[in-house]
Amino acid sequence: MNSPVQQLLSRIEAKREEVTALTQDLVRIPTVNPPGDAYETCAHFIGERLAKKGFAVEYVRAHGAPGDSNSHPRTNVVARWQGAGTGECVHFNSHIDVVEAGPGWTVDPFAGHVAQGRVYGRGTCDMKGGLAASIIACESLIESGMSIPGALEISGTVDEESGGFAGVGYLAERGYFSKPRVHHVIIPEPLGVDRICLGHRGVWWGEVETRGRIAHGSMPFLGDSAINHMSAFIHLLETQLQPQLQRRQTAEPVEPPGARVSTLNINSIHGGQVEQTYATDARGWPTAQTPAPVVAHSCRTVLDRRFIAEENLEAVKQEIVDMLDELKRTRPGFDYAVRDIMSFVPTATPQDAPVVDATARAIARVLGRQPSYIASPGTYDQKHIVRTGKLQDCIAYGPGILDLAHQPDEYVGIQELVDSAKIMALASLDLTGWTRAQA
Ligand SMILES: [Zn+2]
Repeated sequence: MNSPVQQLLSRIEAKREEVTALTQDLVRIPTVNPPGDAYETCAHFIGERLAKKGFAVEYVRAHGAPGDSNSHPRTNVVARWQGAGTGECVHFNSHIDVVEAGPGWTVDPFAGHVAQGRVYGRGTCDMKGGLAASIIACESLIESGMSIPGALEISGTVDEESGGFAGVGYLAERGYFSKPRVHHVIIPEPLGVDRICLGHRGVWWGEVETRGRIAHGSMPFLGDSAINHMSAFIHLLETQLQPQLQRRQTAEPVEPPGARVSTLNINSIHGGQVEQTYATDARGWPTAQTPAPVVAHSCRTVLDRRFIAEENLEAVKQEIVDMLDELKRTRPGFDYAVRDIMSFVPTATPQDAPVVDATARAIARVLGRQPSYIASPGTYDQKHIVRTGKLQDCIAYGPGILDLAHQPDEYVGIQELVDSAKIMALASLDLTGWTRAQA
């Protein structure tokens, strides 16, 4: 006689075609962000399926959130299945948005093409395959008739690719990612079937403006160019700050290893007259717009500063301000302003946290090897769950190869879908208290 756990694993194994078909169905709903197409259709597709399996389904539109409109409603779906007792709740959160297909595809990006044991298409790996695996995991648990003492939740949320403010951010503010409703969160992002992502580096998005004095461009000596001032600042970033950041190593297992330091990207820069388009005809006469001669009185740059767990946000900002103050002391006429755009501190769930431990044991049982533990260079929706939901027991774990995300010919392996569904189901048995109740 097979044990209940072995029967559960066989049940999931038998759903190989079902998890493939579900991934295909999800990919065929082109939830491209921006602008946020077909969110409503995708949310209802998930909700209607789960309602048939006994989930209580809610649709939460992020009214008033960035991007929400009647033509592009930011509709999230949250589904909850309450088990036989008052045990803890495991929540699987997947974003339903995908980035644009872009060029370079050899198959239709929204057809769900299957070949060589893979499902191809935009979002297969990031992250509709992970969503499908979590749905199959939870449905198999329910169908098994095992007496689950806690609750299972599945959400499909919007706008992760653009910050998640209308998705997980919106729901977290309303208690959907907090105790006592939810205790453990698994985000099936495509980190690989044997890797557990504990968290991510922090980020500070800021804007620096340098100021000058407007004058006629033919007599620049009568003005003071904000662009020249910005160039002095950027020179310091490149020659002083960026080399320092490169030497700041983190102990966190960030993947790829090149991101195990602090980084700074100069995201954009604009100074002087607004951007225009220029062209001339054969005579050399302008046929498009023409510039007016002014000395730039303002120049603005947007900085994307990624910081490591060993740094703190205040110090990250302060070292930029210190450089600007130094220029103000030494460079005649230099003046500046700094504005915060947004920031998220690093997250790192401890390796002995319940959700990490349960997932690690499930990986060992299903795959016969120990997991590796990683951290992400960029943020994902875990930031909202930790910061706003105040829930620490959160990881990213799911099928797919991260490098394929946002690429042409993105795919997810069908064997990975099946294996990760098994792992999610076993982890849920532990986290809801089923395993303990059997002992
Ligand atoms: Zn993703």
